[in-house]
Amino acid sequence: VIMLGQAEHSAITTCAYCGVGCSFKAEMKGNEVVRMVPHKDGQANHGHSCVKGRFAWGYATHKDRITKPMIRSKITDPWREVSWDEALTYAASEFRRIQAKHGKDSIGGITSSRCTNEETYLVQKLVRAAFGNNNVDTCARVCHSPTGYGLKQTLGESAGTQTFDSVMKSDVIMIIGANPASAHPVFASQMKRRLRQGAKLIVIDPRTTEMVKSPHVEADYHLKLRPGTNVALITAMAHVILSEGLHDETFVAERCDTQSFADWKEFVLRADNSPEAMAEITGVSAEECRGAARLFASSGNGAIYYGLGVTEHAQGSTMVIGIANLAMATGNVGREGVGVNPLRGQNNVQGSCDMGSFPHELPGYRHVSDTTVRTQFEQAWNVTLSPEPGLRIPNMFDAALDGSFMGLYCEGEDIVQSDPNTQHVIAAMTAMECIVVQDLFLNETAKYAHVFLPGSSFLEKDGTFTNAERRISRVRKVMPAKAGKSDWEVTVALANALGYPMDYQHPSEIMDEIAALTPTFHGVSYAKLDQVGSLQWPCNDAAPEGTPIMHIGEFVRGKGKFINTQYFATSEKVTRKYPLILTTGRILSQYNVGAQTRRTENVAWHSEDRLEIHPHDAEDRGIKENDWVGIASRAGETVLRATVTEKVQPGVVYTTFHFPESGANVITTDNSDWATNCPEYKVTAVQVMPVPAH
Ligand code: SF4
Repeated sequence: VIMLGQAEHSAITTCAYCGVGCSFKAEMKGNEVVRMVPHKDGQANHGHSCVKGRFAWGYATHKDRITKPMIRSKITDPWREVSWDEALTYAASEFRRIQAKHGKDSIGGITSSRCTNEETYLVQKLVRAAFGNNNVDTCARVCHSPTGYGLKQTLGESAGTQTFDSVMKSDVIMIIGANPASAHPVFASQMKRRLRQGAKLIVIDPRTTEMVKSPHVEADYHLKLRPGTNVALITAMAHVILSEGLHDETFVAERCDTQSFADWKEFVLRADNSPEAMAEITGVSAEECRGAARLFASSGNGAIYYGLGVTEHAQGSTMVIGIANLAMATGNVGREGVGVNPLRGQNNVQGSCDMGSFPHELPGYRHVSDTTVRTQFEQAWNVTLSPEPGLRIPNMFDAALDGSFMGLYCEGEDIVQSDPNTQHVIAAMTAMECIVVQDLFLNETAKYAHVFLPGSSFLEKDGTFTNAERRISRVRKVMPAKAGKSDWEVTVALANALGYPMDYQHPSEIMDEIAALTPTFHGVSYAKLDQVGSLQWPCNDAAPEGTPIMHIGEFVRGKGKFINTQYFATSEKVTRKYPLILTTGRILSQYNVGAQTRRTENVAWHSEDRLEIHPHDAEDRGIKENDWVGIASRAGETVLRATVTEKVQPGVVYTTFHFPESGANVITTDNSDWATNCPEYKVTAVQVMPVPAH
């Protein structure tokens, strides 16, 4: 234990966990963290923090960190430590060999929402300029890709509309498919402050979370819908609002595409979209649906916050559109206290999407087929770029299995643990000829890798993260990279080994390039960030100090566009063999696949994933508290211990996904969102039965 007050040096940096993006002072003694102090001037957190950001940094210096590059020719061979030069030369020669044998499009890269903006920008540049294709994707594919799609279509920009502070002006808050108390704790505290001041609360969630009822919170309405029926419910709520004339006619007339509104209104008012008709599907009574819709539409400023319970569905994109429709119809966009607010799970989900890590978009969400935009990048990068969208992550797996995708560069993302249908992912990984993993630890994905390039933690690099409110904040290096190179330097070195020259002396130069090529970032620089603390994009000549609230006066796309949201039942059906629906979520003390939090000591840490099951379903099966249970789906089987609780409704079971041995994704299927291929993690038909002690 290092005594407080012994810090020798410190720097203001940004938490590397969730999308709140809290600012901290990292106090250091040599290369050891003394403590992380929430920064009182932090513009996202105002001096607050949660247990993860404040205490869960031990992973950065954990003994499991890999600090030497390693290679092996077959995944059954032992790893061999080599120099950086040898590892990078080997990776580059393997990638070029594969391209010579299978074609230019046979390799690609995956980046992560854990990476800085600068790192992600470099990964997509490496793929586009050095690999020569658009086969780049990000783990945002499996979380918020429907947000990007749905908000762009309706509002014109793939981002949340508000600052966090805006919630203090909200009169009614609607939380859909999110549990900020566990996943975004500092923002949840701010939200609770507003609720204590009297704001109304509507929660739409199949499970009773802390935001429904806890010592500080009691929702006015908890619409406990069946998993997979979000679109039916939001359309039924819109039916109530339109049929009772509760919409904001002036806002719609002045700000929205009135023809699209008229078409949408006709669709919404169909009898089969009424709360009575939809109650059969959603399990939410017409009375509750009507009450919640009236409360939202008639309480003043209405703000919608949503999470992965919206996006990770077969109709994830449709639901994002449904949320935007509702916000526009009620005039709740374009000022403080309102808005459409995706709660981003990871520290840099927003940034990784902004930086062009999708296979169809260059930085700033501009399509690769746009010749004008592509020409700008071609001139800046001195290459010819492909106008064809590349492969998404699930398409990469499919292409690996048909022999056309044989090489992968994967930075900061444990796809074997975090992507659905693990068996399918492993089959694809095993089929590839060269996988290069860049990470802090030998994760599950590294088991199938041929080259391991040691990564660097947020304490070992400079860069920026962009949080859920589009706030760009600095990450500052407070200790040398343990492996000798920061992540951005590794990507630069790999590009050079491939024969594509990259030359940056510092990440600030990468940001300068991003700013020059991306209109929404034109005004961003490290000098300005140092001066003002953080900036919310768009930040450019039109908004030199950034843009806390978007769509004021006019939507980014001009007029807001309504789009019909026809409900379709997911193809993942319950049957006699699989009679329960499994849904998934997070817990406060762990983070995603747990690579960091499982390596940070804390006696209060949640130590296992458990299966929550309703007392009736448990009794039917002879399951008692703490019993081991087997969970079987169409994709696979796993074993967990049971928690018998009324937090879940009959017919629904729930688990978290923080431990690799729990295998939550062994049982999730590869069903996905129709528009973006975001996996349908939230709906898996399963059977649960007791099994002997494990
Ligand atoms: Fe980090 Fe999120 Fe906790 Fe803030 S709320 S300290 S960003 S994990």
